[in-house]
Amino acid sequence: MFDSFLNWLEGASWLNATILLFLLNIMILVSCILIGNKLVIWFYKRPVASIITTRPSEVGLAVLSVILNTSVTLLGFYLWKNDVIVLSTSFGLLDWLDIVVLLLIMDFLMYVFHRFAHMKKLYPFIHQTHHSFEDPRPITLFALNPLENLGFGLLWIVVLCIYPASWIGIAGYLFLNVVYGLIAHLGVEPFPSWWVKHPLSKWISTSTYHTQHHHQENYNFGFYTVIWDRLFKTMSPHYPSHFAKKLPDRDTKVESNR
Ligand SMILES: [Zn+2]
Ligand SMILES: [Zn+2]
Repeated sequence: MFDSFLNWLEGASWLNATILLFLLNIMILVSCILIGNKLVIWFYKRPVASIITTRPSEVGLAVLSVILNTSVTLLGFYLWKNDVIVLSTSFGLLDWLDIVVLLLIMDFLMYVFHRFAHMKKLYPFIHQTHHSFEDPRPITLFALNPLENLGFGLLWIVVLCIYPASWIGIAGYLFLNVVYGLIAHLGVEPFPSWWVKHPLSKWISTSTYHTQHHHQENYNFGFYTVIWDRLFKTMSPHYPSHFAKKLPDRDTKVESNR
């Protein structure tokens, strides 16, 4: 069944592919907002940011992100049809393991990309837009400067051109990427308190972790894990001591190295 879907996809016209990928990206945006807002209500007793209403500029940027993400996916589609991106269609153990491999590769590359985005000369042009929303909420995940949005998308395409991943690895990675992006921008903490103490889960990022980055811009650059911040000593001194809490005083905001 999966093979027949791939055969259909390979022969699909550009119009059909564009409609399919556009609808897919709209579905991702709408489900993130619906599920995210439900989670905000469920975990309202554990705020890590001020709970505020959606800002109109976020809606505009989110709509733009759907168009940009569709364009990047279409580029991937073109490269796949022309055998530049080659993907395994089997479901063996190594193919499933690709989920972890892709998460670790992208986690490191996005950490590096994020550090560059905070450099004085680049920050106003690619990353300041996202940081203009100090208190994140689910839609903030999509509120990115178009250049940053395309930058992340192209980074992902380059990885796929170099690393021969499996379809299941890509699907699993993309699913977890959206889940993690959403958790990071809830503004409330859904993970239990033991999360940051357990020897395994403490390495995985949380909502508190990324919200602290929105509040203290020169800490917590990591996305899925806290590995690189620990290694390069950029983890906030308030993490994990202020897990599932707001920072003691927002005035303690450390001067950015911008
Ligand atoms: Zn953010
Ligand atoms: Zn940042």
